[in-house]
Amino acid sequence: MGSAVLGEAITAIRAWSVGEFKGSASGSAETFGSLVFNDSVQQARLPKAVYQALRRTITHGDPLDASSADAVAKAMKEWAIEHGATHYTHWFQPLTGITAEKHDSFLSPNGHGKAVAEFSGKELIKGEPDASSFPSGGMRSTFEARGYTAWDPTSSPWLLYSGGAVAFVSWTGETLDKKTPLLRSMESLSKQAVRVLKLFGSTAERVVATCGPEQEYFLIDRYFYLSRPDLINAGRTLFGAKPPKGQELEDQYFGAIPDRVMAFMNESEAELYKVGVPVKTRHNEVAPSQYEIAPVFENANVATDHQMIVMETMRRIAPKYGLSCLLHEKPFAGVNGSGKHLNWSMSDGEGNNLLSPGKNTHDNLQFLVFCTAVLRAVNKWQGLLRASIASAGNDHRLGANEAPPAILSIFLGDMLTDIFEQIEKGGAKSTKSGGDLDTGVMVLPKLPRDAGDRNRTSPFAFTGNKFEFRAVSSGQSIAYPNIALNVAVTESLDYMATELEKAMKGGKSLEKAVADLLPKVIKENKRIIFNGNNYAAEWEKEAGKRGLLNLKNSVDAFPQLISKEVVATFEKYKILNERELHARYEIMLEQYNKTVNIEGQLMVLMANRYIMPAALEYQRQVGASVSAVKAAGAKSVEGKKTLDKLTKLVDKFKAQADKLEKTLAHEGSSAEKHAKHFRDSVIPSMSALRELGDELENVMPHELWPLATYREMLFIK
Ligand code: ADP
Ligand code: MG
Repeated sequence: MGSAVLGEAITAIRAWSVGEFKGSASGSAETFGSLVFNDSVQQARLPKAVYQALRRTITHGDPLDASSADAVAKAMKEWAIEHGATHYTHWFQPLTGITAEKHDSFLSPNGHGKAVAEFSGKELIKGEPDASSFPSGGMRSTFEARGYTAWDPTSSPWLLYSGGAVAFVSWTGETLDKKTPLLRSMESLSKQAVRVLKLFGSTAERVVATCGPEQEYFLIDRYFYLSRPDLINAGRTLFGAKPPKGQELEDQYFGAIPDRVMAFMNESEAELYKVGVPVKTRHNEVAPSQYEIAPVFENANVATDHQMIVMETMRRIAPKYGLSCLLHEKPFAGVNGSGKHLNWSMSDGEGNNLLSPGKNTHDNLQFLVFCTAVLRAVNKWQGLLRASIASAGNDHRLGANEAPPAILSIFLGDMLTDIFEQIEKGGAKSTKSGGDLDTGVMVLPKLPRDAGDRNRTSPFAFTGNKFEFRAVSSGQSIAYPNIALNVAVTESLDYMATELEKAMKGGKSLEKAVADLLPKVIKENKRIIFNGNNYAAEWEKEAGKRGLLNLKNSVDAFPQLISKEVVATFEKYKILNERELHARYEIMLEQYNKTVNIEGQLMVLMANRYIMPAALEYQRQVGASVSAVKAAGAKSVEGKKTLDKLTKLVDKFKAQADKLEKTLAHEGSSAEKHAKHFRDSVIPSMSALRELGDELENVMPHELWPLATYREMLFIK
């Protein structure tokens, strides 16, 4: 470990322990959004006509004319500079999984030895970062370096790095990124949802997907983090014996938050507040040193931007408290992993939640149509949804016994399942909680607003007025799962609207049309409903009987992204074309291969340069002790046994490290073949090496073990 970095960590830890950081304040109502060029700032600072033009761009997608764009840019620049900004950037989301930014100074030389602050409408609307080093999945070659970014006016610009270097931030999109398809998917969802709403007499012009992602993460002492090459380079531990105390005492969940962690949370939240991220909830999670942060839900596009900012902010603030924030989905084997529960719903222009049971029969009919559309979407687009959350990291979590399995299913809860069953049989007459309403055509029960029961094992659960996609991983951008959901539900609502319109044109009343359609759709899609324990082995069998997809790992899941149906549907709704989908598939595969390769190489490195030298030293010590005892005329029975056992173990460990190294040297003839090799040969070889390494850790003296242990990392807070 480099002593300079360690020195930095120790300084931060010392500063913490003498109380330097204790005063950090949490966010407040006054500071919320103070670094955002939001609607009220826009209204106050823009000429009225320009403000109105910008509003039309935001609400109706009208293009912003050049002179308005210049006026917006001027107001933004002045506002940003008043707040201490020196640079601006188009902050964007390339296909890397993280965000990217290129800072340009506001200052330009004026040719007379002075500089003036400049930022024009053109620079606001369009940026031109060199795109050659971003993944493109073969869509472009390196010499075609140019990439364009465009401003998304629906996500307000904000100031980044308050307190340090200041950059003025807005956002962007091109089809080499994740935001463009997200915006398009929201647009198409809106269109189809509006069609359905219209049948119910609504005049809504727009529907937005809403999203509130709950982020789980670990915080460990930075000193330990810096002692582990695996954490630094792979984000997860590749070796590490299970500690005697794990999470079995269940004394962590919702427990008291340690002081240092609380100080970290306060500062992170204060920073997030300033840039308008509405974080709301924080608590201890199930595993030791695991926590959660959740915002109030927002428009899914803005929520996706904000979610990236949440991850970046926590990573950035943690070292100030001598901590490291781990966002990997499985930093510690044998300990609960981290997810990012994606709460998702749809809301009309007036903010009415379309997945919230209504107060009367009419509203409930509408609720049931939307709910059934989601049911159908998840059944029909299981593969797409599964692929949208696939990654090498999430493979360690999905299907492990604390996380939802790789099989997608929907938890509806007893009450709603019961209603669906009754509808399927031709009309619902009662609820489990009693009370019913007669529409004359279909008898519908009063739906209680509170769903009551919960199921923590379901990958996709109805939680009263929204769905919670729980299989999403902690480290990923939520753009893909949001896109997948939006597209799946778009297609489903399109189907429902078409069927209902047809029936009503044929003379049926809305009620009759709905009463005829729902039982059919429920019958065709109910196999996806599962309210039982998703962790149980029986479920896997049962799901197999139902014909549900069981894509156990990413290599199996990725091809779903380029299936004929997915491509046709993405093209139909103009989300992405075949080439763009293939590019994304290639990139996901490439990222999988790179991740496993890095991890494998790291294990070989750690085996040869950390663990072996320590193990040989211990072996030497035991050998010396046995010889010394012998020379002194006694016989060391246990010493000799220890030496023999240790020698065998060390030999086995080294042989396995060499084997892994050889397995890694394999060249795949294609990315697919390479991925299969990683999955079928490299990963098992890594697991075997890990097991031997962990065995060694358990017999070696603590002071000789070169890596921070689980005991230290997870329990020293
Ligand atoms: P619970 O604890 O019951 O899961 P909460 O009300 O605490 O539910 O919400 C959990 C997350 O779900 C929060 O981030 C919240 O903002 C989000 N959420 C609530 N309602 C919606 C909605 N209509 N659409 C999207 N997300 C929502
Ligand atoms: Mg929840």
